[in-house]
Amino acid sequence: LFITLEGGDGVGKSTQAALLEQWLSGLGRTVVRTREPGGTEVGEQIREIVLHHRGDIAPRAEALLYAADRAHHIATKVRPALEAGNVVIQDRYIDSSVAYQGAGRVLSGETIRDLSMWAVEGLLPDLTVLLDLDETKARQRLDAAEKRFDRLEAEKAEFHARVRAAYLELAASDDRFIVVDAARAPDEIAADIRARVEALLG
Ligand code: C5P
Repeated sequence: LFITLEGGDGVGKSTQAALLEQWLSGLGRTVVRTREPGGTEVGEQIREIVLHHRGDIAPRAEALLYAADRAHHIATKVRPALEAGNVVIQDRYIDSSVAYQGAGRVLSGETIRDLSMWAVEGLLPDLTVLLDLDETKARQRLDAAEKRFDRLEAEKAEFHARVRAAYLELAASDDRFIVVDAARAPDEIAADIRARVEALLG
C-alpha cells in the first residue's frame, strides 16, 4: 500500500504521517515512512541543492532535479518496500511537483507530470491525502511553531494560493485523492485518514 501526503507548507503533513505510522504499526503492519525531496542519501544531497542553493535554479533544471530525486527514491527505496508488502507513507510526491513547479508558471503541470511519470516508471499512490489549509492559517501555524517561517515569509502569498488551487484541481480530477480539512485538530484529521486507509486495507 502506497500512501502519499500532500499540501502546502505548514499544513501538518509530518504530524499526520507520524500518527498514521503509529496506527498502522499498532495493527502489525511494517511501515516505511519517507519524504521527498530526500529519503535517500542521494536524495538528501539533491534536497540540499534544490532547497538551499543560493540564487535561482533554471526551471527546467529544477524540475529535472526533483525528477532525479524521485527516480532514485522510488527505484531504490519505495518499490522494494512495496514489493516486500510494506506500507509506504510518503511526505510529498509527483503532485507536489505539479502543484509547486506548475504554479511557478514556467512549465506546464502536464510537462512536469509526464517527466515524473517517466522517472518513476508510472508508479502512482493507492491513496493521496491532500491536507487543505488556507494560506494565512498555514502561515500562522508555522509562525507559532517558529518553524521555517522565513522561507514562507520570503515566498509570495499569491504563489501559495496558486499552489493550493493547483492541488485542489488535481484532487478533483482523480479518485486516488481524499481532501481533508487541515484546520481541525490533528486527532480529527487523523481519524478521517484512518477511515479511508481502513477501507483500502479491506
Ligand atoms: O515540506 P518540505 O520540507 O518537504 O518542503 C520542501 C519545499 O520544497 C516546499 O516548501 C516546496 O517549496 C518545495 N518543493 C517543490 N517541489 C516539490 C517538492 C517540494 O517546490 N516537488
